[in-house]
Amino acid sequence: MTARAAELRDQGADVITLSAGEPDFNTPSAVCEAGIRAIRDGRTKYTPVSGIKQLREAIRKSFERDHGLDYGIDQITVACGAKQVVFNALFASLDAGDEVVIPTPCWVSYPDMVALAGGKPVLVACDESRGFKLRPEALEAAVTSRTKWLMLNSPCNPTGAVYSRSELLAIAAVLRRHAHVYVLSDDIYEKLTYNADFATIAAIEPDLYHRTLTVNGVSKADAMTGWRVGYGAGPLSLIKAMNLIQSQTSSHTSSISQYAAIEALAGGRKHIEQFASAFLRRRDLVVARLNQADGLSCRMPDGAFYAFPSCAGVIGKRTPNGTIIETDTDFAMYLLDHFAVAVVPGSGFMASPYIRISYASSLEDLSRACDRIIAACAVLT
Ligand code: PLP
Repeated sequence: MTARAAELRDQGADVITLSAGEPDFNTPSAVCEAGIRAIRDGRTKYTPVSGIKQLREAIRKSFERDHGLDYGIDQITVACGAKQVVFNALFASLDAGDEVVIPTPCWVSYPDMVALAGGKPVLVACDESRGFKLRPEALEAAVTSRTKWLMLNSPCNPTGAVYSRSELLAIAAVLRRHAHVYVLSDDIYEKLTYNADFATIAAIEPDLYHRTLTVNGVSKADAMTGWRVGYGAGPLSLIKAMNLIQSQTSSHTSSISQYAAIEALAGGRKHIEQFASAFLRRRDLVVARLNQADGLSCRMPDGAFYAFPSCAGVIGKRTPNGTIIETDTDFAMYLLDHFAVAVVPGSGFMASPYIRISYASSLEDLSRACDRIIAACAVLT
């Protein structure tokens, strides 16, 4: 989709891209200045594999302040984005054939990373009628003696679903019966929730603290995707194994980015409030407009910056040039080729027929894109 969108743009088309998984805001200037200062001060050498101490201390404080989670700084590791944290954890822990329970729809990288590390992704479909969330009974049915991890992602990419404290407690009750299962709680969208209270499983269930890796970072909340700083906190033995993997791969993320991330975390993060209120306005516009499109239905997401409308109502319909839309990929291609709007088909997130729309764009672009989507749906027969 991205390649096709670029091709069309090169041909002069006014393509509106709603497929990006990153905020459209600039990195806050104080954070940029901290990066520039780090360069000027010569902080351009190797750092410890797990990240510089001041950064891990800032991360430790943020876990304590935000969730009452108590980690020693040796229980914290910093990597090239949350993505590398997840990868290091899987690579450090999976033996061939070990199973990882992944509720779907899910972030596209989880199943591939599990497979790459030699494990077996066990996908558990979570219905839209249940808010796209994992039910305790479904988790119980999926767990076997080979299960090593449960992946939790709240707020979720792509659905925007946010697990409440009581929903997490119900999941924890299942996991208490299966002491061999670890939890990877990917909280990368934590700071972007709208009228929903964020909770994280290691903080609310003391039994699980000792077998949970809590993953977070500055990419999404602080508009720092390109700086590549993510972190994980969890049991010391796991963190040590993850550091070993990292020491033989990337060594560590950029020293400059680490200094910038200290400023982001320790500087009060005032910018997050502005980002979140802009996202809230955009979400409300996009969801309302998408629900006006014939054949689409979109539930209100509680977090992240994605809408995930069902496009079941357009499947089987005919486009003006006579093509039948058979899948969500066909629909996404139709939107791109004929209406110059780039979205991601749900199949990429193990859920069809849906499309994912990122509302990390200006209100003006979102409004124009929704006009086009509504027009595209209206001419289907
Ligand atoms: N986890 C989820 C659910 C994501 O959507 C993403 C990015 O799209 C990441 C992790 C990766 O974040 P980072 O850019 O910090 O590697």
